[in-house]
Amino acid sequence: MNVTFLGTGTSVGIPAIGCQCPVCQSTDPRNNRRRTSLYVQAGGTHLVIDTPPDFREQMLTYRVPRIDAVLFTHAHADHIFGFDDIRRFNAMQDAVIPAYGSASTIADLRRIYNYVESEQDPGVYRPQIDFRTIDRRVQVGGAVVEALPVEHGSKPTHGYVVRAGGVGIGYFPDCHRLEDSVVSQLAGLDVMILDGLRHRPHSTHLTVAESVAYLTRIGARQSYLTHMCHDLDHAATEASLPGGIRVAYDGLVLDV
Ligand SMILES: [Zn+2]
Ligand SMILES: [Zn+2]
Ligand SMILES: [Zn+2]
Repeated sequence: MNVTFLGTGTSVGIPAIGCQCPVCQSTDPRNNRRRTSLYVQAGGTHLVIDTPPDFREQMLTYRVPRIDAVLFTHAHADHIFGFDDIRRFNAMQDAVIPAYGSASTIADLRRIYNYVESEQDPGVYRPQIDFRTIDRRVQVGGAVVEALPVEHGSKPTHGYVVRAGGVGIGYFPDCHRLEDSVVSQLAGLDVMILDGLRHRPHSTHLTVAESVAYLTRIGARQSYLTHMCHDLDHAATEASLPGGIRVAYDGLVLDV
């Protein structure tokens, strides 16, 4: 399995527009964070998790060649506002592309992108999407995808576990709290990627310390923080973490 971090930043992206802080002004490319998204090649299947506003640039930068399915964690703007650009993959692959999410996320996508299923103006270049609700587990090509509920404010939100070829990765970019039952289902993962917004508490995200506590309990072979804000300098934050827990950055590739 191959995993590429397409974006690791919180909703505004880093640098934040107009911000003069040291992280936003940093010359370390690892402090440049597009909105969170993950590209997973698993069992010959190409999956993208979320289509943030930076989706088009992420596809161009990392030369994603095809998408067999898109998984949506939830319908916050920073995770869905690149959705329209899926249409390039429809054209290249000459195929409808399935989009998976919770019933609530799919309902939000259908409402916000209501032209996708419209019969009007048949010549218009729209994404061709097969919306599919995922409650628990589904086979997507050569990968098994499992959806797990997380607490993240009022929007019903999923984390995803993707398994193929005997390895498993967990991707939970937006999370404030995990149920004990979910934590125990994550045992034995090879890679676990979890929300680690900042040090100060937040009502819908995990702090670095809270995230580290969950990651330690889960005990994956490799653990990564994502969805960071500009409070977190890459090098300084990584140096402060326990062994086995790293800070993800845009363009990081894991060969699992
Ligand atoms: Zn987010
Ligand atoms: Zn800043
Ligand atoms: Zn969110």
